[in-house]
Amino acid sequence: MRLGMLIDLRTCIGCHACSVACKAEYDVPLGVFRDTVKYVEDGKYPHARRHFVPVLCNHCEDAPCLKACPTGAISRPDGQAVVIDKSLCNANRMCMSACPYGAIYIDPFEHVAQKCTFCDHRTAQGLMPACVDACPTHCRIFGDLDDPDSAIAQKAASNATAVWKPAARTKPRVYYIDPKGALDLVTEAGIQTSTDDPAQGPDERKA
Ligand code: SF4
Ligand code: SF4
Repeated sequence: MRLGMLIDLRTCIGCHACSVACKAEYDVPLGVFRDTVKYVEDGKYPHARRHFVPVLCNHCEDAPCLKACPTGAISRPDGQAVVIDKSLCNANRMCMSACPYGAIYIDPFEHVAQKCTFCDHRTAQGLMPACVDACPTHCRIFGDLDDPDSAIAQKAASNATAVWKPAARTKPRVYYIDPKGALDLVTEAGIQTSTDDPAQGPDERKA
C-alpha cells in the first residue's frame, strides 16, 4: 500500500472548502494551517490568469522532516502517512527547518509540531480525508497509488502528473495534474505561509 493524493489543478476553483474542512476537522488555530490553497497570477490583460494550488504535507517517501527529528517523534506507520507523535515532540523545530514545503507548524496552544496526517483517523474508518470530501469539484483524489484499480492510480496513469519542488528529491506522495505550470509559478513567488493577501502580486511576494 502507498497512500497518496492527486490534485487536478485544471478543476480547482480556489474556493478553500478543503482548507476550511481541514481547520474544522482538527480545530487548527488561526495563523497556521495543515492544508491551504496558494494562488499566483501570470500573464497580462487580456490574457492574465490566476492559478490555484492546494498544498499540504506531501507525505514524502524520502521525508527530510523524519530524518531531522532528534526525538523520533516523526514516523510513517505501516508505510502510510507521515505522522508526528505529540508525546515525543519537544518543539525544537528541526523538522520545520528540514521541510522544503513549509508543511509543519508549532501548535501555539499545545506547543508541539503539527501537520496534515492524510486524516489517518478518518481513513482508518474507511472515510476519505476531510479535504477530499469537502471539495465541490472533486479535484482531489485520495487512495492507494499501488492499487491499479484505485481511482487515484487510474487517473495518474491516464494523465501527466507533477510534484511540487522535484529538485528537493523528497519523493512526494501528493501529485498534481498541472498543465499550466502553476507549481513552478508558486515556487517562484516564494513560500506563502497563510491565505494569500490579494493586494500582493507575484512581484511583491518575491521581495
Ligand atoms: Fe515531512 Fe515536509 Fe515531506 Fe511532509 S512535506 S513529509 S512535513 S518533509
Ligand atoms: Fe480547490 Fe477543491 Fe480546495 Fe476548492 S475545495 S480550493 S476546488 S481543492
